[in-house]
Amino acid sequence: MTHTIGIHAGPNYAEGLRNFTKAVTRYMAPKGVNLAVIEIDNCFQFKSFPQVSESNITAEDLKEACDTLRQHGVEPVPLYNCFGHQGWSSRNALLKAFPEFDESPWIKDGEGFMPHFSWHHMPEKDAQGRSLYTYNPAWCGNEPRVYDVVLPLIDELIEASGCKMIHLGMDEIVMMGECDRCRGLSRAELFRKNLVLLHDHCAEKGVRTMIWGDRLLNEFLWHPWKLPVPGQEMPSDRDNLLTCACIDDVPKDVILCDWHYGHNTEHFTGELLSHGFTVLPSCWDRPENAELLWNNAREEAEKQDCKDRMPGMLICAWAGGSNLLLPFETPDAPGIPEELSRLPAVLDKVSSLVAEYR
Ligand SMILES: [Zn+2]
Repeated sequence: MTHTIGIHAGPNYAEGLRNFTKAVTRYMAPKGVNLAVIEIDNCFQFKSFPQVSESNITAEDLKEACDTLRQHGVEPVPLYNCFGHQGWSSRNALLKAFPEFDESPWIKDGEGFMPHFSWHHMPEKDAQGRSLYTYNPAWCGNEPRVYDVVLPLIDELIEASGCKMIHLGMDEIVMMGECDRCRGLSRAELFRKNLVLLHDHCAEKGVRTMIWGDRLLNEFLWHPWKLPVPGQEMPSDRDNLLTCACIDDVPKDVILCDWHYGHNTEHFTGELLSHGFTVLPSCWDRPENAELLWNNAREEAEKQDCKDRMPGMLICAWAGGSNLLLPFETPDAPGIPEELSRLPAVLDKVSSLVAEYR
């Protein structure tokens, strides 16, 4: 990869996608943004399995957006969440249409789901060792029928977008190794098996795989989904899934987006680089945190003499497509989320850091 400044957002309907494309081409590409991770997920009018479609983005909409982005020098990367994040605090249309894929069918809609910020209360288990709550359902990692459905969906996104890279999510998978099909199996092996299958499928089509990096980091060192709260103990070791044990058994051409949104002083990007991956440190909404993450990552890339494998940074906006125009066009309008209002400042910061790195 050449030098990279990426933007990630989830325009979850057709008009949002058009606004996302406008925001990227008008306001971000001139500042060096040349990669757009578009979280399409199930917000697409799938022809192979229309029952999993959650919104109105058509193949024509996606093609038009990607063509426009490319005309402005921006590489489009569609994102489809795999394995984990089959919904956010509820089940998505895939698990609703195919309940037999669900890793935790015993968790009832409206009862066992909780918001992300409550995650630290999680490790309650039933007598069989199964989690009683989640905010993030998953498909079973040992259920091959999943791929009879998911691979055709991914193929549709690849075909419509004409992409060279696809982001397959795979972050924050917390429900694994719990159902009857996969209990007792190594979580690292479940993660590896699913990633390799997806990677190989996309590679056959000439498409490079990108995922979030957290499941390849050691949870003893980093607990993004298990935040300590005053008066509570940190989760015990038994709650770690240690998927990171497979780090040297997955293809090295998988691009890892190493997200850290807070005041992160650790050199996690360096850990991933040391295993031979191409890594994009990925920030969110605070310029000072983006700079800290970048400086640590850059130091590691230079120390390990592998700047070619750390070509830049990904900015996660965590916003819908229509929202992405707001901080650039009507920054003083009431109601803009505070974190989104900082996007232009983050962009300026990342733009200058990466420009100076080349
Ligand atoms: Zn399972």
